[in-house]
Amino acid sequence: MSDYTLASPSDALLQLSLRNARERLRNRENTSEELVSACLSRIHATEPDLNALITVRDEALEEARQIDKSGIDAKKPLHGIPVTVKDAIVTSGIRTTAGSRILQNFIPFYDAEVVRRLREAGAIIVGKNNMDEFAMGSSTENSSYGPAHNPANTECVPGGSSGGSAASVAAFQCYASLGTDTGGSIRQPAALCGCVGLKPTYGSVSRYGVIAYGSSLDQVGPLTRTVDDAGIMLSVIAGHDAKDSTSSPSAPVVTEDDLSVIASRTDLNGVKIGIPREFLSEGLDEGVAAVCRETELHARDLGAEIREVSLPHATREAIAAYYVIAMAEASSNLSRFDGVRYGYRTEAAEDIDDLYTRSRTEGFGKEVQRRILLGTYVLSAGYYDAYYRKAAQVRRLIREDYLAALEQCDVLLAPVSPVTAWKLGSIVEDPLKMYLMDIFTVSLNLSGLPGLSFPAGRAGGMPVGMQLIGRPFQEKDILSVGHVLETCRR
Ligand code: GLN
Repeated sequence: MSDYTLASPSDALLQLSLRNARERLRNRENTSEELVSACLSRIHATEPDLNALITVRDEALEEARQIDKSGIDAKKPLHGIPVTVKDAIVTSGIRTTAGSRILQNFIPFYDAEVVRRLREAGAIIVGKNNMDEFAMGSSTENSSYGPAHNPANTECVPGGSSGGSAASVAAFQCYASLGTDTGGSIRQPAALCGCVGLKPTYGSVSRYGVIAYGSSLDQVGPLTRTVDDAGIMLSVIAGHDAKDSTSSPSAPVVTEDDLSVIASRTDLNGVKIGIPREFLSEGLDEGVAAVCRETELHARDLGAEIREVSLPHATREAIAAYYVIAMAEASSNLSRFDGVRYGYRTEAAEDIDDLYTRSRTEGFGKEVQRRILLGTYVLSAGYYDAYYRKAAQVRRLIREDYLAALEQCDVLLAPVSPVTAWKLGSIVEDPLKMYLMDIFTVSLNLSGLPGLSFPAGRAGGMPVGMQLIGRPFQEKDILSVGHVLETCRR
């Protein structure tokens, strides 16, 4: 077992936060080539153990040289900074697999809007991250490219489905990554690997060019090593996009000016933090519960007013509603992978029906097939009212619970995962147990609210994350409280 979350002194450059790396580039203390070269060496040294990337881009070094030649432009917020991107987000000219065999040779000819914004901001993509196939999973074990490993203990899972992104950031392969969160896939791997993950409010970040899983739930967001860095990434990717009809027309949720205000904050005086009672009773591991209590006390010491709140529908009911809705939407979204229009096509087909069946049977993994079957079932005539409509009703109740709690409090503080990272292979054969791992994360996606997962401590030597939940489009609040809690613990 190895621990890649503790970078060795020779990696001093890698240990910088994104903000500090950017400062050094702007002050010409380092070149982009040095940063990219350090990240690529780190990638080559750690990938045999981590498998956090499906595609590594050694050609990024040349891009860095070009940037150095033309000079760092301080108006570009990420100019010369090496980042990685989850393989569910399409990248022009760079293979994009969504963790699936069915897309093993898919090279998109356009960039997702978030990638376009990253590139416009000057970021350099050094790799595409491993993930559960089509983002379906909580451990990255459902990847067709082998599981990713947790950098804090390589015998454990990194969480999922953005496990590759979290592992990559926590192991210093890059300064930031983009993930997607349909039911917890940014926040949970961030918590299990010991980094920061932000799921923005539904509608604040464009999904144009993001391979869809559950369209009423999916959001793109950053994974970073500091809360402040997550804010920088969010300021780059958030904002209206006419190419995504669900994108909100309001202004970006956070600007660089907001981030300066947030960074100067050192206490929580006047902040009302709600603790959802139900989250602390649902099978929480003792070590994780202890970190929750410590974080709460810590927030109180920093001046916050702590209140207990109740979210009666946001745990068990949320899991049931989430899996009905997510699978229903997935079954529809994945119908485009037919062996004709995209990706993998079977070698031997007798007729057109056989071509569809064989291509999908050979191209999709077991979990994806299970979800397509269940999703098609809950949408079928006669079952729609019993399952899908019911789930949609429960969804509304959950959102109402949250909005009521957030009327009394500025933010809510809750655990992200009931347990720390578990051993690879230990529950992958038990899908229901795996689904229950999402008990504290899926309710936010059902409600569309923003959530920030940040490292809050360790239990049994493994990272424990806590999440801050905010009002719609008030990412500033969770970033600000998260920044204070994070910096005062260091
Ligand atoms: N683990 C959840 C699922 O399998 C969430 C995944 C995600 O957020 N993409 O559906």
